[in-house]
Amino acid sequence: MPELPPAAQPSHPPDTRLVVAGERVQPSAADCFRVTDPWTGGLLAEVPDCGAPDVDRAVAAARLAFESASWAGLSTGQRADLLSAFAARVAARAPELAMLDSRQMGMPLALAEASIQGAAAALSAQADQARAGLDVRLSSAGTALAVAAARPLGVVAAITAWNFPVPIALGRIGAVLLAGNSLVLKPSEIAPLGCLRLGDLAAEAGIPSGVLNIVPGRGTTAGAALASHGDVDALAFTGSTATGRLLMQAAGASNLKRLHLECGGKSPQILFDDLGDAKGLAGAVVAGFTHNSGQLCTAGSRILIHETLFDRLLPLIAERVAALSTGNPMAPEQLLGPLASRAHTATVERLVGQALPGDRCVAEGQTSGRSACEFAPRLFVGEDPASPLVQQELFGPVAIATRFRDPDDAIRLANATPYGLSATLWSRDMAALMPLAHRLKAGFVIASDSVSPADPGVSALPGEPAGQSGFGVEGGLQGVAAFTRLQGVLFQSKGTLQ
Ligand code: NAD
Repeated sequence: MPELPPAAQPSHPPDTRLVVAGERVQPSAADCFRVTDPWTGGLLAEVPDCGAPDVDRAVAAARLAFESASWAGLSTGQRADLLSAFAARVAARAPELAMLDSRQMGMPLALAEASIQGAAAALSAQADQARAGLDVRLSSAGTALAVAAARPLGVVAAITAWNFPVPIALGRIGAVLLAGNSLVLKPSEIAPLGCLRLGDLAAEAGIPSGVLNIVPGRGTTAGAALASHGDVDALAFTGSTATGRLLMQAAGASNLKRLHLECGGKSPQILFDDLGDAKGLAGAVVAGFTHNSGQLCTAGSRILIHETLFDRLLPLIAERVAALSTGNPMAPEQLLGPLASRAHTATVERLVGQALPGDRCVAEGQTSGRSACEFAPRLFVGEDPASPLVQQELFGPVAIATRFRDPDDAIRLANATPYGLSATLWSRDMAALMPLAHRLKAGFVIASDSVSPADPGVSALPGEPAGQSGFGVEGGLQGVAAFTRLQGVLFQSKGTLQ
């Protein structure tokens, strides 16, 4: 396996201990799992595989913090101040955190850093939005006052995925903590190291002890213990639909904890007939499913193209795919790294192997051939909506292109999978896109007449998945409200109680 450039080597071994009550602590048992670098295959760290005793410790610390009101008792503005200070620390440490994320799951270093900076900025923006609080005064007639008060849920557990390790964790920390809850975070066993560092940065920023606890562990150990815990009030999950199903069972079989599931997707990119040879469009479409080597829940891996545009646009998209190459994630200009692990690479290969005979591979990119986790980007063409390439999430740099006849046909095809996470619509006719967006089974819809990056404010876009992509609002002020429970309170003073 290739050596990394000297600058990529960590200066000291990462701290793998868990974070409980604001401190790094040793696990109670010696069980560990290995975190490896998918590019080199080398061992990065042996990390504690926390079981029920450590999860109990972390939940108890979170409960104590919640009951003490050291956090829940602050005003939303005070919590926003502390979370903004935390976000600033994360931004300052983004190079270090990005190095950890990148080495654990293979994301190009520059992308890892940009995504952490973006997530820190989004957390600050969300904190600003939440400053005014979430309570609503309903009416104040005569001597009565009715308030819809947004109360925190209590102890929330978050179980997260590996594809954007630190950014996904930051999204959860922001929404859950701004709402006044305490949190126990279990990062993915593929990439826990940067997430653990967030515990140190939260303590430095002045977030009270016990408000953010972090337990590394496998899904079947720490994850399962959190999902069935009797003192966890809500569980926020980011991961596959298959695991989401298990968590619903665990929540039902334990204490009926509230669930928030952000699961898989198989999102369409729809290209309408008025686009002609729109400049940059092919590149943007390819980026839509190859970003982070396609390990993106919102990857636009179904490309629906109007039949009059198909034969002109497909060769341009294919040309772009063929020009892509995977390689060393530490190389400054590298756009695509390896996939996150050997096991995940094998899964993507197996799923691609399930293509129907009628699904034609029309373009394949390159790999450097230096890592067993590299997977060449691929573009298929197929007309059978039942194909596994259309119906199953691959979580790799693979898309399938299909023709559609008219907008109704496009909507029918777009909605014809079990998922409903996101959709991208491209047309020059914004007015025509508005009514179509409403008909899509998708939590997030980007309708655009431009291939330029979205404005920064878009990071605050709230949305809620549909179908088997899960449920629970993500993003913006509504994403904070999702971790509260509404309490209707009526104060009436008529002075008749003597
Ligand atoms: P995964 O479901 O395998 O694992 C996700 C998390 O769940 C990990 O922390 C894992 O340890 C834990 N887990 C696994 N089994 C568990 C169990 N039995 N009990 C409790 N916890 C368990 O998913 P992954 O491979 O880490 O991530 C990829 C998936 O995540 C894709 O489907 C992707 O679409 C999805 N994802 C969704 C979003 C979103 O916002 N909708 C964002 C990122 C990733």
